[in-house]
Amino acid sequence: MSKPRIHVLALGGTIATRPDSTGAMQMGLGADDLVAAVPVLKEIAEIGAETVSRVGSHSLSFDQIHALATRIRDVKADGVVVTQGTDTMEETSFLLDLLLDLEIPVIVTAAMRNPALTSPDGPGNLLAAVRVATDDWVRKNAKALGVVAVMLDEVYAASDVLKVHPTRLNAFASTQTGPLAALVEDRVVPFALPVRNAVVAARSKLAGVSGKAAPVALFWMSLDDDAALMPFMLAAPDRLGFRGAVIAAMGGGHTPERATENVIGLAKAMPTVVSPRAGGGPMLRKTYGGSSSEIALREAGLIWGGRLHPLKARVLLETCLRAGLDRATIAELFDAFG
Ligand code: GLU
Repeated sequence: MSKPRIHVLALGGTIATRPDSTGAMQMGLGADDLVAAVPVLKEIAEIGAETVSRVGSHSLSFDQIHALATRIRDVKADGVVVTQGTDTMEETSFLLDLLLDLEIPVIVTAAMRNPALTSPDGPGNLLAAVRVATDDWVRKNAKALGVVAVMLDEVYAASDVLKVHPTRLNAFASTQTGPLAALVEDRVVPFALPVRNAVVAARSKLAGVSGKAAPVALFWMSLDDDAALMPFMLAAPDRLGFRGAVIAAMGGGHTPERATENVIGLAKAMPTVVSPRAGGGPMLRKTYGGSSSEIALREAGLIWGGRLHPLKARVLLETCLRAGLDRATIAELFDAFG
């Protein structure tokens, strides 16, 4: 029987670093190097390797991920594995999930420990990603799974996966839902399929999105915050280039009372999504009164971000604005996230 064809696309990140003369890790390895470091891959699949870029994921752009999605759509393979840095994987994987509607597995993976360390996790993560991409259950359910992240032998939905630690090996988790599957020995053990109605609804409105970048500001609400930056941004002739905003709100969807005027002013000026700074929702809709609680903010026109983490809400809002969707449609898409 012929082996499945898996195409590895390398963007950069820790997984692709090597030490310079000072010992500092620099981007350098390409897809061929990553694949060559795991000889067993050849026994599992026919591997294609393509180096897309050699950048840290902290410097990736929305445009680069759109270009990557276009490239993935053209790939002739039974599955795709993207390697990149861990820093923005929670955002890039979700953007790919919004842009791609494919019948084949699309998997994003990375490494926390670089290749110069004694126990780098990159080779194991790449092997796990390829094993997941070639697994029968995963292939059969590729559409239902959407884009997934594979780290440390666990499989996570792109809409839920978060980087929860800056340095340790087990840095990824889906805090709301848990992993979708685990890799044990060489087999995938499925746990669950993700609920994807909101992603699918969003994707139907975003199909073929090709507009220009639509920068979205992120405001993280904190103790005693009066959101004084907001009016300065709005006072700039071009609003500093921002077309929308996400407010990472406290608790079930609250901002400090002293910030209310600024928050509402922002929402009047541009689509503004409220998302839980606690890391994931759903948020409240009708519990608390007061000028800066969920009832008042919703009545004042703030868009409710549902269960999406603020970083993921920002990805969805940028994509909606880039696609030219109006405020009402944007609100409807976010509403489906709970
Ligand atoms: N900041 C770099 C990146 O995200 C390295 C971190 C990593 O890959 O884990 O690409």
